[in-house]
Amino acid sequence: MLHGGKTTIIKIYRCGYCYNNLHRIYKNMPKETIQFPATAILFSHQNNLYLIDTGYSKRVFEYGLKSKIYHKLNPIVYEDSNSLKNQLEADGISNLDIKGIILTHLHPDHIGGLKDFPNSQIIMSEKSYALLVRPKLLDLVFKNLVPVDWMNRLRIIEEKEDDLFQDGTIEVIDLPGHTKDQIGLYFKELKFLYAADATWGIKFIDNQLKFIPKLLQRDYKHFNQTILKLKEYMSNGIKVMVSHEQVDDK
Ligand SMILES: [Zn+2]
Repeated sequence: MLHGGKTTIIKIYRCGYCYNNLHRIYKNMPKETIQFPATAILFSHQNNLYLIDTGYSKRVFEYGLKSKIYHKLNPIVYEDSNSLKNQLEADGISNLDIKGIILTHLHPDHIGGLKDFPNSQIIMSEKSYALLVRPKLLDLVFKNLVPVDWMNRLRIIEEKEDDLFQDGTIEVIDLPGHTKDQIGLYFKELKFLYAADATWGIKFIDNQLKFIPKLLQRDYKHFNQTILKLKEYMSNGIKVMVSHEQVDDK
């Protein structure tokens, strides 16, 4: 738990994981299979509960051919006890008590559990909104993960807007490259930046991606610029965490 004046990071949840071989992802790496957890973060702001992303759910397996291809490239390990809703319940928190969910981007491991939170405001960047309305194949948006009433519960963070609660506590940071729309959240009081999938691990930040993983980044030039941005935060003593960080790196 990380406490600030108005904000507290209550818990980091791992809602299933995918696995892959480092050797297939990065140049000059050993043949070692590692787990990439699907992370969601529970935090409070002024006594309201919020989530960043929602991890996997069983629905990621239920989107026909797209699910099959995704699972083949990126094998997923998930069981019901891993769902964010069930894990919150085990901690005494009802899914109905979450005021808002901030989506860093729209990949299945980030929006997988969204349908389990019918009361929450759905908060996303202007670019995510544009992608969700008109996704392209490579945007990897599984529409079956999106609640039918999402537009009624939507809050769009406009491009020029970077102060999430208009009180200087949480800054919305643009982190394009992995996807066009990716954002991160910088908790100023906590000196903590959650950087979604800007890299697959802080310890891999200087590793070069191989050809196929490079192709899967929507814009490699921006991907590299975003890495530099993270390094700048880190050099200023700010703790940077990404979604797929290994559990023992927490
Ligand atoms: Zn992603």
